[in-house]
Amino acid sequence: MSGREYLRYGGDTACLEIRTKNDVVLILDAGTGIRALGDELACQGREELTLLLSHFHWDHIQGLPFFKPLYNPALRLSLGASQGAQRDITRVLGQAFRPPVFPVPFAKLPAQVTTIGFKGDVLRLDSLVIRSIPISHPNRGLGFRIEEGGRSLVYLTDNELSLRHRGGGVFEDYAAFCKGADLLIHDAEYTPEEYPQRRGWGHSHFADAARLANVAGVGALGLFHHNQARTDQAEDELLERCRELLPNSGGPRCVALAQGWEMELSG
Ligand SMILES: [Zn+2]
Ligand SMILES: [Zn+2]
Repeated sequence: MSGREYLRYGGDTACLEIRTKNDVVLILDAGTGIRALGDELACQGREELTLLLSHFHWDHIQGLPFFKPLYNPALRLSLGASQGAQRDITRVLGQAFRPPVFPVPFAKLPAQVTTIGFKGDVLRLDSLVIRSIPISHPNRGLGFRIEEGGRSLVYLTDNELSLRHRGGGVFEDYAAFCKGADLLIHDAEYTPEEYPQRRGWGHSHFADAARLANVAGVGALGLFHHNQARTDQAEDELLERCRELLPNSGGPRCVALAQGWEMELSG
């Protein structure tokens, strides 16, 4: 959403940039947030990037056609996606990049795109070690745990902790995957009061995200995938309620992720 009530948390859909200690860039998801990131990366003259997609729902890929580096013939993009087989990535994105919905076919993008079939194996990128877990979400997908030198970040969005979708895990699987992470970024789209009407839609309420953070003993919890209709004021109230579920000392700190938010994790 846009407008005065949405300025703080903004209107972009999912996109996260991670920089390694050697300044190598990893991007998670290609929601509309990737447009501004692409402009910045193009200005920096970067010619090597890696992008991992958690899944193919529109809000996670819709920024990709407007990602400026794709139109640079010198760019080498490694593109990894949730459902493994290389032809899946090409086939699905081929449907988003083709006339009449977009003028440039995926196969004719100027950048050199190679795909990574992610099948539960470990991916290494510069100093990063990346592991994945199936999310509990319609049409499946992956969450990622990214480690560098003993520090770790878990990105688990579009994940319904109270309901096991086909191919997904249960709460205990996610608790084990997140164990001891320095930062857990988790879907907290709903309040517990809203959730019963939206059960089965593939998203969690903040109390489940807080429970996961507590059980897994993470250092910080980042609430993510805010409901598109929630105003800044309502999101702040949700954040306050979520903080009340976390211990005051020694437990996870909690933030609601917003555009431009940054956190240093290197040791
Ligand atoms: Zn989704
Ligand atoms: Zn989503």
